[in-house]
This record gives sequence, structure tokens and C-alpha cells, in this order.
Amino acid sequence: MERIRFCTNCYRYTLKKICPTCGKETEINVPQKYSKDETVAYYRRKIKKESFDKHENN
Ligand SMILES: [Zn+2]
Repeated sequence: MERIRFCTNCYRYTLKKICPTCGKETEINVPQKYSKDETVAYYRRKIKKESFDKHENN
């Protein structure tokens, strides 16, 4: 199962262990400020869509 990770440097959600934007290691624990269910659900859908698009393009 996918774990949402969070870059505390970019304030960006990702599924990668290393932030694709800044290269910093991401955190598993999303800061509480950003962990509202709606927000996580939004980014989960967004990330899934991005992953799907990348897969399709490759
Ligand atoms: Zn980052």
C-alpha cells in the first residue's frame, strides 16, 4: 500500500523517499497541519494521476 510522504523543504507531497524537486529525504509523517483528510485525499488522487501519466508516457 502506498504511503504518502512529505517534503518538509518544499511542503510537497510525494510517494518518493527522496523529494523529486529538491532531493531532500522526505518524511513519512505528514505534519499535522497538512494531514487533514481532505488534503491528503486530494494529493493522493493527484499523485496517483501523475504516476499513471508517467507510466503511460514511458
Ligand atoms: Zn523537496
